[in-house]
Amino acid sequence: MLFSLLTHKKVNALSIDLSARAISNLFTQKQNNFYSKASIKNPSYYIKSRPLTSLADQNSLSSTAQAFCFKDIEAKWVERWNYSSRKNANAILSTHHNIQKKNSERSLDSTKNTFFYVLSMFPYPSGDLHMGHVRVYTISDSIARYHHLTGKNVIHPMGWDAFGLPAENAAIDNDVSPNEWTKKNIQTMKSQLKTMLVDVDWEREISTCDPEFYKWTQYIFLQLWKSGLIYQKNASVNWDPVDMTVLANEQVDKNGNSWRSGAKVEKKKLKQWFLKISDFSEELLQDLDKLELWPENVKQMQRNWIGKSVGVEFDFSVKTLDKNLTLSVFTSRPDTIFGVSYIAISTEHYLVDKKYLPSDKAESIIDFSKSLSKNSDKNINSKIGIETGLFASHPLDPKKKIPVFIANYVLADYGSGAVMGVPAHDSRDFDFANANGITDFISDSGKSELFCEKGVLKKIPANDIFGGLSSDDAAKRILEICKISGLGRVKTQYKLKDWLVSRQRYWGTPIPFVYCSSCGPTPVAESDLPVKLPVDVSLSKRGGSILNSLEKWKNTKCPSCGNHAVRETDTMDTFVDSSWYYFRFLDNLNNKLPFDPVKINSLMPVDIYIGGIEHSILHLLYSRFITKALQTSSTLKYNSSVLNEVKKGLDNPLSIENTVEPFKRLLTQGMVHGITFKDPETERYLKPNELEYTNESEIPWIKSSKKKPLISYEKMSKSKFNGVDPRSVIAEYGADVARLYILFKAPPQDVLEYDTKSIVGMQRWVAKLFRIVSMVEIKFKPIKDYKILSDRDQWTAQQKETYLLTQKSIKLATDVFENSFTFNTLIASLITLSNNISLLPTVTNPHLDLHISETYALNSLLVMLSPIAPSVSEELFERLHLNNNTYLKTIFAYSWPKLDKSGLVSDKAVCVVQINGKVKFKLEMYSVLFNNETELKEIVLNSELAQRYFIDKNTGKHVPIKKTIIVSKRHLINFIV
Ligand SMILES: [Zn+2]
Repeated sequence: MLFSLLTHKKVNALSIDLSARAISNLFTQKQNNFYSKASIKNPSYYIKSRPLTSLADQNSLSSTAQAFCFKDIEAKWVERWNYSSRKNANAILSTHHNIQKKNSERSLDSTKNTFFYVLSMFPYPSGDLHMGHVRVYTISDSIARYHHLTGKNVIHPMGWDAFGLPAENAAIDNDVSPNEWTKKNIQTMKSQLKTMLVDVDWEREISTCDPEFYKWTQYIFLQLWKSGLIYQKNASVNWDPVDMTVLANEQVDKNGNSWRSGAKVEKKKLKQWFLKISDFSEELLQDLDKLELWPENVKQMQRNWIGKSVGVEFDFSVKTLDKNLTLSVFTSRPDTIFGVSYIAISTEHYLVDKKYLPSDKAESIIDFSKSLSKNSDKNINSKIGIETGLFASHPLDPKKKIPVFIANYVLADYGSGAVMGVPAHDSRDFDFANANGITDFISDSGKSELFCEKGVLKKIPANDIFGGLSSDDAAKRILEICKISGLGRVKTQYKLKDWLVSRQRYWGTPIPFVYCSSCGPTPVAESDLPVKLPVDVSLSKRGGSILNSLEKWKNTKCPSCGNHAVRETDTMDTFVDSSWYYFRFLDNLNNKLPFDPVKINSLMPVDIYIGGIEHSILHLLYSRFITKALQTSSTLKYNSSVLNEVKKGLDNPLSIENTVEPFKRLLTQGMVHGITFKDPETERYLKPNELEYTNESEIPWIKSSKKKPLISYEKMSKSKFNGVDPRSVIAEYGADVARLYILFKAPPQDVLEYDTKSIVGMQRWVAKLFRIVSMVEIKFKPIKDYKILSDRDQWTAQQKETYLLTQKSIKLATDVFENSFTFNTLIASLITLSNNISLLPTVTNPHLDLHISETYALNSLLVMLSPIAPSVSEELFERLHLNNNTYLKTIFAYSWPKLDKSGLVSDKAVCVVQINGKVKFKLEMYSVLFNNETELKEIVLNSELAQRYFIDKNTGKHVPIKKTIIVSKRHLINFIV
């Protein structure tokens, strides 16, 4: 930010002067409010930008070179890059890299055999690109272009997450087929992506609704079924009454609402398909620790979702009508076993049955239990239960009879569906006991205290041998004794449940199974895949799978016995498609397998995966699971490690540890928020035409009331009138400026507060770059021998300063692309560098030639800018190199500038200033100045500190200097007056 431009406090007078001038010249606070951190939070920042000309007028450069014509420039370079024949381009570029390597010293070590896989989460083809898309694809494109410049073979594909409910619902609303609607949207979005200058390898394009893709989703489904990782179960499932389909646990939020429709989720008993993700709970948990390049918050969310707890399972004996049953109960606090006041079972527990319950109460208990389960989400915060009339005996104190309750807070599928209630040591149990008249934990004096920490067991008759022990010691002894009696054992429990993948909707991958009356559920033969989704259907109403009514499609023959069979009419959760799509990008034309495992070995994992944090659990957990589950398949098992040491592209990648993970590094990007105006009285959202701007520097007024609106930044939404259409932004400012702005406004992980005014700042800066280039393009000569850069002894202070700034930028920019991704700091650093260049006498004076340090700075600046602002960098670079017969036709054929660490060392010394042999003050300056007596004297005498000693206070005249003695080795200057 601006403050980074002011870091030269301790350097010599010359460089302070330079930065000060640079700032006043272009980036005064007043003009460029978008630089100030404070102003982002402060609504008064809302200042109308000044026109471009006022900037140009102030600039020391020619003001005739005005704004650049970005439309022509973009069109020219998009054509030059030639998206359609990327393979060709890659071949040309790699040849250029070889030429480059021979000709130049600055190439990085050859890494061109190394692959780098950059992936952004593929979009749902809604038909409209929004600002969130612009943000994520700008990030991934910039990263991809950077790695290309470092000489790697970059894989940067794009595809479409094309199945799903929105297409189905939109198709119903617009009376078109989901297939048509989706295909049209894909075309639209594809062209919109191109206007953003996103350089994607379209030859790798995939779409999940394409039979050539979902054939392999079905194939994978069958492989996992063969591995025993897929099963059907009659279960109580989450039912979305609006979208008329079941949902996975991950798709229901903490308030019990559907992730998509927002409807209150109901419970329904259905026979459904499940993926056994629970088999991988421990692996999914353990391997999170190996994902060193993932954000900690995402890993923690996954840990919590997997929810591992280690404890003890106790067996309580329950006497029912005619027999004794064993009720197994898990607890993570076995030391509290003597505090059990009740046992709570879920509404779906097997004991909730007429044959076990006391006959006089059975019916009413079952009715009550049903009503509890139906309203489970409404009662989520209240602890409701009913006594069953059954009693359990305590495993360590058999005389104690413990009442069994049915309780709404016990989950049927967590553990055994039964928990022990210890009101004295658990707040949830405490609430339940108080709400349901359980009182045995209350002391004689009427006190009911809650103590949830670990402590020391009180001695009571029942726990004779454990009294006095600490919680941990008591837990160990209790477990030992239970092991001997067989009434308890160590148990590890996970909250993670199997993944329900059946959906009662049409627009999804058909599940490749048929039902035969003699063979039961039977898999479709692999040779008969894909089970095609009929596309010529008319959808008239929401809900229910239309496949059920398509008799011709539905009725088929059993692959096993040949008799009549009926197809499965449910389709797969679209998260199944997206859990493996990144493999297909690497081998999208394979018609024998989803992918060739040998090919995958050398290309996986994805080096950097970019997407929204909202996918922390759903998509990212499913993908990790599928990657691991594929290892159980004989045809798809591959051998890839997530660890960094694996060099991609080698014939035999060295796998250090057999850890398979799909994404080595994860970069989560924040949302884009829009400026939002509300009426201060009613809090109603205001439309733009309800506001007026009376003064350019002030916030708007509400037209009708003349009051100031409430201003905030909120998630963009039609109902808040705060959306920004990326198409209009690109049309107004050009894609390069839009990309620069998006990356400059906030680090990727943060929320980006979109502000149409401050984008002008970026436009100005790009215009300035054009002015710089226009000043020097005629005299620009490319560097033939980079070795000269290491011989800097004779350079002037200013040349050294330029070189130092260039190296600082290279260091920062490289680190940004490799590690930090704080593109805002990178852009700020390039601005500093360009400010320095713009003030060089050799730039402003047409009669002076550029020094090699300056040529190098300008070249490096453009190469470092090119991943972010590709078309303007190309254009500027070409203007400089047009007369150069070795010009390679594209900036992307050149190499990322190599850091010269020796150039980072500032060649400065402290100069000791004496008058008549006595030290008066000290100044920091370049050592090289000690070789030039005239220049050194001039700088010292003109310094601020010198004014005190060399001006006669009485006369105001300069004190005459009789003699000057310079001791270069000691950096000393002595004036005799
Ligand atoms: Zn059969």
